[in-house]
Amino acid sequence: MARRKYVVGNWKMNGLADSIGEAQAIFAAARDHAAVDVALCPPFTLIGAMAAAVPGAAVGGQDCHSATSGAFTGSVAAPMLADAGATLVIVGHSERREGCGESDADVQAKAIAALGAGLSVILCVGEPREVRESGDAIAYVLAQVAGSLPGDFDAARLAIAYEPIWAIGTGLVPTVGDVAAMHGAIRAKLTEQAGATAAGDMRILYGGSVNGENAAELLDAGDVDGALVGGASLTAAKFLPIVAAA
Ligand code: PGA
Repeated sequence: MARRKYVVGNWKMNGLADSIGEAQAIFAAARDHAAVDVALCPPFTLIGAMAAAVPGAAVGGQDCHSATSGAFTGSVAAPMLADAGATLVIVGHSERREGCGESDADVQAKAIAALGAGLSVILCVGEPREVRESGDAIAYVLAQVAGSLPGDFDAARLAIAYEPIWAIGTGLVPTVGDVAAMHGAIRAKLTEQAGATAAGDMRILYGGSVNGENAAELLDAGDVDGALVGGASLTAAKFLPIVAAA
């Protein structure tokens, strides 16, 4: 199965009700790029409004709990995201792995919960700067993949996002060769863990300082099936050139 390009905006902790117009502009223009799947992950507070404002659009969460309900103050369960109109969720973003102490096992449990709720999943992995500098980035990321990937899953609903931590929000990006090498290694690991058919169907996104200028080159690299975009996803003016480059 040919893999469709996938460009996903992660709004992080940005956006108020008046940002919905920006999402409408993004999804309206994205229709001109029929070969690209476009999704936006706003903060939880905007999921319902965004999904309602743009029927059929792929709107997602940025995290979910691994339980379906219960006494977890401040958390949101995967079935709640689906109930609010989300069709996907990001799990294992480095800002949660690092900032909230999420382990590979936690991320795996969240991915399983999300798939169980009918959501698609974008499972993030990526190495810190010191690991890249020590030359161990591929081994580090493959260990994250091995530890975070559910044992059994629908490959059409699970994408991996490779996001080197040192590239997020910094304006730094790895060389295209390094991105291709990492994505190729991730694809080989997926083949080992899930079989060639599933691994061939799964999309591997690159994330970390993607913008309208560097997107074409990054998205053209081997085994790169799309982008997970933070800062440049907040406005149509910055995000749409990335969609066009895909
Ligand atoms: P950035 O963030 O595009 O702002 O670097 C990417 C991400 O954290 O998903």
